[in-house]
Amino acid sequence: MARRGTTETTPAPLRFPVMAFRGRLGAWYRRHARKLPWRGVQDGYAIWVSEVMLQQTRVATVIERYREFLGRFPTLAALAAADVDQVLALWSGLGYYRRARMLHRAAQFVVRELGGELPRTAAQLRTLPGVGGYTAAAIASLAFGERVAVLDGNVERVLLRVLGEAEDNSAAGQRRLAALAQQLVPPPAKAPKPGRPDGAAAAVNRPGDHNQAMMELGATVCLPRAPLCLQCPVMALCKTRGEHITAPRAPMKSRYAAHLLALRKRGVGTEVLLEQRPGEASLMAGMVELPPLPADAIEGLEPALRLRHAITTTNYLVEIFTEAAGRSLQQHVPAERRDLHWVAAERLGQQPLTGLARKVLLKLKIMERGQ
Ligand code: SF4
Repeated sequence: MARRGTTETTPAPLRFPVMAFRGRLGAWYRRHARKLPWRGVQDGYAIWVSEVMLQQTRVATVIERYREFLGRFPTLAALAAADVDQVLALWSGLGYYRRARMLHRAAQFVVRELGGELPRTAAQLRTLPGVGGYTAAAIASLAFGERVAVLDGNVERVLLRVLGEAEDNSAAGQRRLAALAQQLVPPPAKAPKPGRPDGAAAAVNRPGDHNQAMMELGATVCLPRAPLCLQCPVMALCKTRGEHITAPRAPMKSRYAAHLLALRKRGVGTEVLLEQRPGEASLMAGMVELPPLPADAIEGLEPALRLRHAITTTNYLVEIFTEAAGRSLQQHVPAERRDLHWVAAERLGQQPLTGLARKVLLKLKIMERGQ
């Protein structure tokens, strides 16, 4: 489900115990929130990176990659100065590589056009190339405390269930949901009166914490198929309590793919044959992969490795063949795609590898984890 954010005004006040909802949700979040490296961070750039990575990628995968990415590009200026291939190499395995390209492009835009200063409001952030409503609202609220709701698939599900609203994917339905989400966001904490020692209270980012709490509730309690209502902090206020029907997901397709793993010795090291995908490819443009093989080239051969790999809504059964299978396979790499390069094994970590290539090379211990 697409992530959105909203700054829209509310058409009609919500008939709902908003204050009780905020209070219960906030108390639960402070006690039960998962400790994630981007929580409590007030650096807009770091939050931006985490939010882009979290789109379409599981939290467990993002945790390690987020640290690696920020270790290499600790500031927006460092990212903007990097070559796009370096950025793609660090994104390898996260999938949806367009996200990395757009992040890099937007960072360059901020440095070039805005003097390196990341905008602080959702409306301004949306003017950056590739930054949509969801990301803009997330950065503005989590980093800068703007009172703006984030609306991702998890938040949308919580809202529909709590308020007992029917799912409505029309533009009007989405606007209505965005307006409802906005009404639940608390205002920023008041600044302390001069001389009063309650600066800590004012330092709490109430809009940001609320948004995080909504996302956390959807991700850990109000689950799509089997919500854990008995553990839910807002069960007493919820209109549906698990009775809300969630639309079924699109079924996964199954496909088969065969790839060549060709290795050669160079001095004391090993080199791997890799192919760069065309820059204009609709999927994984410019990424580097193990050369694909047509079905007739591998007929009757036993693969060196068989594995499963999912890309968006497709489950691939992948077989990896080596020259050791007894036939020269390199000649079967399709003629129009022969952008082939031998790459030293110790330099694989600097390549913009596809997730599948990375998985195979790690599994066969040709590449080291964290390389
Ligand atoms: Fe979701 Fe159940 Fe909580 Fe309602 S009570 S918000 S359905 S987990």
